[in-house]
Amino acid sequence: MYNSKSKNAVEFICHEEILNTIERVSKASKNADRIKEILEKAKECKGLDYEAAATLLMCEDEDLLSEMYDIAMDIKRKIYGNRIVMFAPLYLSNYCVNGCRYCPYHYGNCHIARKKLTQEEIRREVIALQDMGHKRLALETGEDPKNSPIEYVLESIKTIYGIHHKNGAIRRVNVNIAATTVENYRKLKEAGIGTYILFQETYDKERYEYLHPTGPKHNYAYHTEAMDRAMEGGIDDVGIGVLFGLSDYRYDFIGLLMHAKHLEDTFGVGPHTISVPRIRPAADVDLNEYPNAIDDKLFRKIVAILRIAVPYTGLIISTRESEESRADVLKVGVSQISGGSSTSVGGYVEKEKENSSQFEVNDTRSLDEIVGWLAKLGYMPSFCTACYREGRTGDRFMQLAKTGQIGNVCQANAIMTLKEYLEDYASDKTKKLAEALIEKETADIPNEKVKALVIEHLKDLGDGKRDFRF
Ligand code: SF4
Ligand code: SF4
Repeated sequence: MYNSKSKNAVEFICHEEILNTIERVSKASKNADRIKEILEKAKECKGLDYEAAATLLMCEDEDLLSEMYDIAMDIKRKIYGNRIVMFAPLYLSNYCVNGCRYCPYHYGNCHIARKKLTQEEIRREVIALQDMGHKRLALETGEDPKNSPIEYVLESIKTIYGIHHKNGAIRRVNVNIAATTVENYRKLKEAGIGTYILFQETYDKERYEYLHPTGPKHNYAYHTEAMDRAMEGGIDDVGIGVLFGLSDYRYDFIGLLMHAKHLEDTFGVGPHTISVPRIRPAADVDLNEYPNAIDDKLFRKIVAILRIAVPYTGLIISTRESEESRADVLKVGVSQISGGSSTSVGGYVEKEKENSSQFEVNDTRSLDEIVGWLAKLGYMPSFCTACYREGRTGDRFMQLAKTGQIGNVCQANAIMTLKEYLEDYASDKTKKLAEALIEKETADIPNEKVKALVIEHLKDLGDGKRDFRF
């Protein structure tokens, strides 16, 4: 039976309740009055439950949908302004004991070059990332207790935080590793990680078990309950996500929101971020096996409704998406993107000679090109990592986010971190575009005290000082 506060995966992600919801909302989604009622509620910026969100998802009335996109854009503007937080993935190892059918790192793939970075190689990768201007990383590694045990991950985090090359520094390390124990989550927390990220891939248990035929990841309950253990281990910023296209998107969409509700109802704080990857071509992955793959139009709709349903949760897309598709979803909800990414182990120092990437990168532009592109579109690229460093995590963060107070610090931090990026890493072309944006944004800061401090720090940054934050 469905119980959002249960500790049991099959109760907080309830198969019957998801199927019943799909049936209920398929009727409701054709009722224009019901859709208008949901849209009115959406405007309050307080989010939507999974039933209302799924009703929007199944609505096909173009006029109502156009109103829905406008609301998503409004919510995005109100909460996130024009800021887009930048990050890059760092792949530590592609050894993996799991058999995930959609991932080329699955253990049975003998056509892929296996590699695990040494601490010295990590150093070189991080310096390459710092030289691009990155401050925020997402660590990625396959699951392999022998090749990448928790000690290896912890040592790598320490190495990364310890590297200061020229003016570079990685100030926030988010970690995406396999589901693990409360004790290991505690160790990750002590190592100073930002967000713990784990994708569910699909919430449909039967499909999940088919897609993960072997290895520890086969255990649906252990995987689905991972965020509960992470929270018990003291990690209060967690990032969830599904790989859209693996299963019926309606099922996974409802599952995602049920998971968010479970975390909120059980721990008082929902997910810090939701990632929205969708299935893409990769070595040893046959796309014909995935008839549920979603097109650009549906992808945009999903992003917009998530923005409305969980207004205070960051939405992330990777370089799996093309420039066009990124531009599209930035408008309606996405707040964090990766840039200049390599999805192979060691790929920042050495361009891959062998095929070892986890998925094909669609947006292959450099970080500088992406920053310039964002500035041209009127977005403010932000390299801010302030919250976790100021102890604004978990419910403390959500409290500030929900009262709208976080926006003031986000804006100031975005301006200062972008200026820092321009001073140290940007091309002249990007500099020109972004300097104009900084000037405009600074003039728009509503709080006079904050504005004066930002102006002072912009000058300090020009004089070579670094790392200012609110
Ligand atoms: Fe391993 Fe993760 Fe790929 Fe599965 S998705 S094969 S766990 S790296
Ligand atoms: Fe993110 Fe906090 Fe920085 Fe805002 S101030 S961009 S919420 S880290």
